[in-house]
Amino acid sequence: MRPLLILLIFLLTSPTALAWNGAGHRLGILIAWQQMAPDTREFVSQALARHPDHGRWREKAGADDAALIFAEASTWPDAIRHDPRFADQPSDNPPLPGFPDMGRHGDWHYVDFDRHGKRGRGQIDRKIVELSELLATSTQPAELAWALPWLAHLVADLHQPFHAGYSEDRGGNTVLIEDPSARQPFVKLHAWWDDLPGPSGLRGKRLRLRAEALQANWPAPRQGDVRQWLNESRQLLKRAYPKTMGSVSLLIDDDYRQWAQATGERRVAEAGYRLGRLLEEIHRQRVSRETPAAINPGR
Ligand SMILES: [Zn+2]
Repeated sequence: MRPLLILLIFLLTSPTALAWNGAGHRLGILIAWQQMAPDTREFVSQALARHPDHGRWREKAGADDAALIFAEASTWPDAIRHDPRFADQPSDNPPLPGFPDMGRHGDWHYVDFDRHGKRGRGQIDRKIVELSELLATSTQPAELAWALPWLAHLVADLHQPFHAGYSEDRGGNTVLIEDPSARQPFVKLHAWWDDLPGPSGLRGKRLRLRAEALQANWPAPRQGDVRQWLNESRQLLKRAYPKTMGSVSLLIDDDYRQWAQATGERRVAEAGYRLGRLLEEIHRQRVSRETPAAINPGR
């Protein structure tokens, strides 16, 4: 009984994982950047430059490079979980200038369903729609700076199957797996998936090379829409639970590992392509809003 007891304590006390790790988010952004026209890149860079944490991102990027700064910005919705300026209850802290609120918004990162497909907690798909709308229409620079890292982050998270998981196991967060090849063999299934894209500190040249490799391996998917991205993740859940039992928990065997590794990489790449095109569309909407007077000066 003792090993089981230790595992149970581990499951109850280790933190709930909520996102692709930093590598997954940064890789997606570098792929998105390749889909974006120069004026869309400029829109993104200018928006991010107004963000209070822009200096921090530039430092972490290690270069004054717009794509790498955007890559760091995309991990910001996870960073604010440990940031005392932000609060679990948004009303608790005074807002930074121009920010709509100072919430950490833990339930924006996912959506859960019961076994019959009935929606449970989480708002990821709805927030992607709302943030896209805000980015296409807002004229407030600080609001754009706030919304952009959120949108970039959530599009990636939605492509992680366990971010559209089952309520009963909190998106794989109460499922323990055993990975004999790992330094830490017992982890939660959700966290194991979060780390599939690579080491969380992946940056600089190695990040760029890996993003290029992902793009070479995985062609651009159909763009689809938020509902489709969500359904794709839910479809993947059928295979995403290991079928083999290990000593005390589900076992990551070679077949499963190969499938999950390829699937994780593909989903990170798909999220990147789709985010790039979504930002293109958002920027196009902004331009068409701003230019009618120039096109028809008499009206
Ligand atoms: Zn997340």
